Amino acid sequence: MTKEGEISKKNKKGKNTTTTIKLYEIEKNTYLADTPGFATFSIEEIESKDLEKYFIEFQKYIPECEFIGCTHLKEENCGIKKAIKQGNISEERYQRFCKIYQELKQKEERKW
Ligand SMILES: [Zn+2]
Repeated sequence: MTKEGEISKKNKKGKNTTTTIKLYEIEKNTYLADTPGFATFSIEEIESKDLEKYFIEFQKYIPECEFIGCTHLKEENCGIKKAIKQGNISEERYQRFCKIYQELKQKEERKW
């Protein structure tokens, strides 16, 4: 489910600029937004290790990952990657997962 929304940001000169954003509902009351520059933010804080839980169709294939705590990014023998090859998970959704994961990870690294 997607929602279109607008956010206003002040630019460096103090002018308001409006950016159209797309909100992706990943759970009830939880949206992820695509915004230029700062690509995603979560309305509720999500930890990178919990991100996979928000991708409902991934759940079935996670037990097929060779490693517990598989991030589904670089691992070999990853159930998610296999499911993509078999066409059970859309490549687009996976790309989104990777993008959000990396952003969450960066945010966590800045925090600690
Ligand atoms: Zn995996």
